Amino acid sequence: MTEHEHVRVAVIGSGFGGLGAAVRLRREGITDFVVLERAGTVGGTWRDNSYPGCACDVPSHLYSFSFAPNPDWPRTFSGQERIQEYLEGVADTFRLRPHIRFDSEVKQARWDSEKLWWELDTASGTLTADVVVSATGPLSDPKIPDIKGFDTFPGKVFHSARWDHDYDLRGKRVAMIGTGASAIQIVPAVQKEVGRLTLFQRTPPWVMPRADRNITRAERWLHRQLPFTTQARRGLLWGIRELQVQAFTKRPNELGMVEQLAKRNMHRAIKDPALRAKLTPDYRIGCKRILLSNAYYPALARPNVDVVASGLSEIRGNTLVAADGTEAEVDAIVFGTGFHVTDMPIAERVVGADGVSLAESWKGGMAALRGATAAGFPNFMTIIGPNTGLGNSSMILMIEAQLNYLADYMRQLTVLGGRVALTPRETAVAGWNNRVQDRMKRTVWNTGGCDSWYLDENGRNTTVWPGTTTEFRQATRRVDVGEYEVVRPPVEAASKKSRTKKKAEVSAA
Ligand SMILES: Cc1cc2nc3c(=O)[nH]c(=O)nc-3n(C[C@H](O)[C@H](O)[C@H](O)COP(=O)(O)OP(=O)(O)OC[C@H]3O[C@@H](n4cnc5c(N)ncnc54)[C@H](O)[C@@H]3O)c2cc1C
Repeated sequence: MTEHEHVRVAVIGSGFGGLGAAVRLRREGITDFVVLERAGTVGGTWRDNSYPGCACDVPSHLYSFSFAPNPDWPRTFSGQERIQEYLEGVADTFRLRPHIRFDSEVKQARWDSEKLWWELDTASGTLTADVVVSATGPLSDPKIPDIKGFDTFPGKVFHSARWDHDYDLRGKRVAMIGTGASAIQIVPAVQKEVGRLTLFQRTPPWVMPRADRNITRAERWLHRQLPFTTQARRGLLWGIRELQVQAFTKRPNELGMVEQLAKRNMHRAIKDPALRAKLTPDYRIGCKRILLSNAYYPALARPNVDVVASGLSEIRGNTLVAADGTEAEVDAIVFGTGFHVTDMPIAERVVGADGVSLAESWKGGMAALRGATAAGFPNFMTIIGPNTGLGNSSMILMIEAQLNYLADYMRQLTVLGGRVALTPRETAVAGWNNRVQDRMKRTVWNTGGCDSWYLDENGRNTTVWPGTTTEFRQATRRVDVGEYEVVRPPVEAASKKSRTKKKAEVSAA
């Protein structure tokens, strides 16, 4: 590479994480950065998930940036369109657009140990960067399981995160595969228009009522006139969730009471005992994400819906066959089967100091210091990295904590001065992860008796944070430089060494 573009920071992704990083960098006085986005607009999750019924499970006043409060949220739990609008607004308000490069999928990022920078190959060209911030999202690459006979299906197939709005579902026989957060929003949204809906359920979710309502004009007026009321509302929503954490992390048995509420929610809508039996989970509530819906169970009780309490195992033309042998003829299949979480594709594309990819280095399980930096990957930081997910609160809180860490990381590089990189010590990464895994042992995610996407193929929980958001914020307030090795360019480091040696010889003489 001779003539090329060089930036101080390259941020990958323009969802909450990438846009938040951009705002934070500007606030730190850093303007020499780009945001590389593979799609044509900002928004990430909220751009890609446009399926019918898509909405947030966390109240909007908490699921938004603390530095960009929105007094005008129309509902307690906003729908996808409003959140997407909010993110477009953040990009405009904070003048981020000149930094964003759309249609710029990062194909590879390689660390150059001589030059101490990252070389990035993107769909729109190459560039180098001192620091890479990967904000590609934990739930951004849809996963469709390998199903025997998949190719024989003659109908329409799509994933919930890639909804085909041109395909008319009216009157069709539709199969919904999966019963996660997206599926339980899709089912009631499409049930009325489809001819027949067959839900393939491997594991039933726990579903609690959703306290969703319009935010009144009076409330919005108050939030506009007195901004501290927006903050107070956010604070209350946050505090309630902080208090719940202990039950998830230390006393899962206490969650038994919550199971009773969820059962009552089901019993209100489902009168058929056989259907209730199919829909009753056999694991502790909270082990998988607790889902919120007032419409899911009523939709399942409708006569045009069938629940197959078994996973899809084979496709023979138009016939879908479940693991228990149940068959259903369908015209379309909607996969609500989640995302590549513990095997995120960006990890394949990032090659560190030893020429090893992040995916290779994480073969035994994802691990990063304070959820952000990985051994062997200098000046590379992940937003929503390993063990930063939440079971009960807003991911924006975790993203903002990580942005504090990023800001201090940038300050530390400036203080060290010159061409320099920080790479976390293996002992520091191991120490952090051992502490996290130790705390994980008692949590409902590990002891609740379920198999969830929080666990990797080795059964290790590398996705969820086993504590409060306050604890995580504390842990990421500052970069402890002692946890890092300071790396200098080889020539500079060698001449510094020889200068030191010479000085020592002179003083000895
Ligand atoms: C349907 C759904 C509902 C959710 N509901 C909630 C909720 O209620 N509460 C909650 O806290 N969280 C929720 N989440 C989690 C949500 O993903 C996070 O809250 C948050 O939006 C993640 O933001 P992000 O910026 O890290 O990732 P994303 O929003 O996923 O953004 C990542 C961006 O990176 C881009 N990208 C990926 N790879 C590349 C590449 N190689 N090159 C260039 N660009 C790339 C993507 O195109 C995308 O724009 C939900 C997720 C989904 C899918």
